[in-house]
Amino acid sequence: MTTPQDIIRPDVLAMTSYPVPDATGLIKLDAMENPYSLPAGLAAQLGEHLAGVALNRYPAPRPSDLLAKIKRAMGVPPACEVLLGNGSDELISMMSMACSKPGAKAVAPVPGFVMYQMSAIFAHLEFIGVPLNADFTLDADALVAAIEEHAPALVYLAYPNNPTGTLFDDADIERVIAAAQKSLVVIDEAYQPFAEKSWLPRAGEFDNVVVMRTVSKLGLAGIRLGYMAGTARWITEFDKVRPPYNINVLTQATADFLLDHLDILDAQAAELRAERERLARAVAALPGATVFPSAGNFLLVRVPDAAVTFETLLTSRVLIKNVSKMHPLLANCVRLTVGSAEENAQLVAALKLALH
Ligand SMILES: *Cc1c(COP(=O)(O)O)cnc(C)c1O
Repeated sequence: MTTPQDIIRPDVLAMTSYPVPDATGLIKLDAMENPYSLPAGLAAQLGEHLAGVALNRYPAPRPSDLLAKIKRAMGVPPACEVLLGNGSDELISMMSMACSKPGAKAVAPVPGFVMYQMSAIFAHLEFIGVPLNADFTLDADALVAAIEEHAPALVYLAYPNNPTGTLFDDADIERVIAAAQKSLVVIDEAYQPFAEKSWLPRAGEFDNVVVMRTVSKLGLAGIRLGYMAGTARWITEFDKVRPPYNINVLTQATADFLLDHLDILDAQAAELRAERERLARAVAALPGATVFPSAGNFLLVRVPDAAVTFETLLTSRVLIKNVSKMHPLLANCVRLTVGSAEENAQLVAALKLALH
């Protein structure tokens, strides 16, 4: 009899699955979801649109109309092609797989988005995390040194960074791109609707840069759609490792429909940016809380005791993310997703109790 222990990789056996806590009955402010739903009329129209979708057919592997619409709507430069992923998580996984030559490496600032490291490890890439400065700005000297030492296949820069919210300095990013002549620099703009700054218009300018986006934080986390813009040289290669039908028909139809109504999602993002500023001021006024500047739809906050804060908020039925164990630089830090005005008011009230 075969057991999993006989054949599964030892590092996989030693892992635990990506933790997603049960949020039933809680105010969910742990995963950077958009708190708003679609207007009822628009949701009904979308329902009709989806009713016309042929569920019996495989999805188009390279849906040209949808790709053209994404290029137009998102301002992808003419020099660039677009590759779709089942969330940007899948794009990260595809890039890791395609680059996994023996001895290949991936480099990213830490603390950063955990999937860069997870995907690297799954694909047998060595992952090298380069610590940020204590104020969570980029340590560009250290990152450039790591790139020169390791000549990694992939260099990830989240712009802005998760879980810190930091928007790295543009001049530092230029330095990294210039230093990474033997690497591909992946600029991850998952939070672009909240940062309102982007490298996408310049994606065609460099031989070694691709820009990744997702609709998840914009209000469509449920449909799982990420996209990547880069020159055809890169997109053609990564497309070879894409599972042939990776974007399902309902996701394609939903994206196609909602890209004609982006104004609604953009207005929600604007509302959340205003809420982010209100929430940051309210939390900063609480005793013992240090709020770090954020260009995302979340705030990183240092508190006297992250575990106590997390547990106390749970008793107030508010779910946040305790990131304090992710990296030493995040000691006693929690991450708060910006919610609706009412959710944020409840969050602040609960934090007041926790930090009194
Ligand atoms: C949330 C997040 C993603 C994941 O996006 P999906 O499209 O939902 O897979 C990618 N990068 C960063 C930095 C994120 O925070």
